[in-house]
Amino acid sequence: MHDYQALLEVLYHDAIKAKNRGSIATYIPELAHIDINNFGIHLKTIDGKDFGIGDYNKPFSIQSISKVLALSKAMELVGDAVWKRVDVEPSGNPFNFLSLLEIENGIPRNPLINSGAIVIADILVSNLKNPKEDFLSYIKMITNDDSISYNESVAKSEQITGFKNYAAANLLKSFKNLNNPVDDVLDFYFHQCAIEMSCSQLSKAFYLFANKGKCLQNKLHISEQQAKRINALMLTCGFYDEAGEFAFKVGLPGKSGVGGGIIALLPNHFIISVWSPGLNKKGNSQLGMHALQQFTTHTKRSIF
Ligand code: GLN
Repeated sequence: MHDYQALLEVLYHDAIKAKNRGSIATYIPELAHIDINNFGIHLKTIDGKDFGIGDYNKPFSIQSISKVLALSKAMELVGDAVWKRVDVEPSGNPFNFLSLLEIENGIPRNPLINSGAIVIADILVSNLKNPKEDFLSYIKMITNDDSISYNESVAKSEQITGFKNYAAANLLKSFKNLNNPVDDVLDFYFHQCAIEMSCSQLSKAFYLFANKGKCLQNKLHISEQQAKRINALMLTCGFYDEAGEFAFKVGLPGKSGVGGGIIALLPNHFIISVWSPGLNKKGNSQLGMHALQQFTTHTKRSIF
């Protein structure tokens, strides 16, 4: 048994001394105000123990981390029909890259890049009665926390500046891979990205992926096979054109967001969340990646 708390403290003290913290995502203007010095890390073990240090209870914009939660809801609702509209291959390109989408006839490479997540958002808009409300209720339920909410200013900020996401949605629509109006789908997508959660809330939400599809309340949401597939997608596609690097250095399925959060997990063992808003050139949290690399190196706990 490792002394996880002592290790998290070492990682925290390393991180607060770091000189190069990367830079805040300013392309979504509302995110530009966040203090780059925030740093939090939280670990939840499958048998329910919690360890945390720093700003691990402070909510932040989960951004693309939401794509995994949206995918799980879409798989719960429509099962394998998802794969008629989105592929499962790494893209090797940035999250908002568009050229492949045209070459590949409007079928996004995977559900964790923006174009793929927009198709998943379309599936949720079609299959949920009150899409934004119902999706938030799903997240509150799996997290067992009613305080989680959308940050409307972040959603609005992205709506005003999300030209590439509009381009992706229009391209998808032109290939008939979007059933709802572009504005409705993007309104949902910008809101899902604008959900605010803390590291400790994220660890709870992602429990179901480490626990064969069953959330903390022991309710089965997706099958064991679906949980395995989502973990495989996180490993191969969760960090865009840095997915190889994350597997190489950290060795866990995971997902990043431009709010500076990263969630990673070892199936059947633990979920770990880290938040440091400064991003590296690929749009992933600079210190977050480093802390996770140190964590799996010290504990020797990775899927490899
Ligand atoms: N909402 C962001 C966008 O669509 C999400 C990107 C990210 O977190 N990588 O640009």
